[in-house]
Amino acid sequence: MSGAPAWTGGCQCGAVRFRVTGLERPSICYCRMCQKAFGNIAAPLVTVAGLTWTRGTPAHFESSRGVHRGFCSECGTPLTFEHYGGVGLAICAFDDASSIVPAYAVGTDAKLPWADDLPSLPGRPAQDATAADARLAKIVSRQHPDHDTETWPPSKPAP
Ligand SMILES: [Zn+2]
Repeated sequence: MSGAPAWTGGCQCGAVRFRVTGLERPSICYCRMCQKAFGNIAAPLVTVAGLTWTRGTPAHFESSRGVHRGFCSECGTPLTFEHYGGVGLAICAFDDASSIVPAYAVGTDAKLPWADDLPSLPGRPAQDATAADARLAKIVSRQHPDHDTETWPPSKPAP
C-alpha cells in the first residue's frame, strides 16, 4: 500500500465495503428524492475519486433517468448517488464520517419545516441506559465495525 490517502467505509451489515482515494465537494442535500432514498431529513454526500468496492457491490435503483442510487441489497443501507457528474458516497457510510464535513447545502427549498430545530431537542447519549430501558442493554449489535475486516460476519457470535 502506498502512502496515498485513502478512506474506507461500507454498509451497516458489512456485505458491501469500499475504499476511495479522493474526496471532493462534501455537501448535504435536502431534496425530497434524497429524503426518500435515505429515509431521513437529508442526504450527506461526497463526490469520490478512486472508488474500489473491496467487498460486494451495491444494488441500484434508477431514481431518475441517468441517476442511479446504490444500496446494500442485504441490509438496505443507502450508499451511492451515481450520475453523469460522478459518484457520490453517503458520508455517514464512511468509517470516520466525522472527518468529512459538508461544505454547502442543496435542495433547501424542500427542507422539512422542523429540520433546523433538531439541534435544540433535549437528548442523551445512546449508552446512557436507565433502569427503565435496561432491556435495550441486552441487545447485541450485528453492525459491521468501523474498519475493514478479513471476514464478516464473525465465525462465532460475540459474547
Ligand atoms: Zn449491508
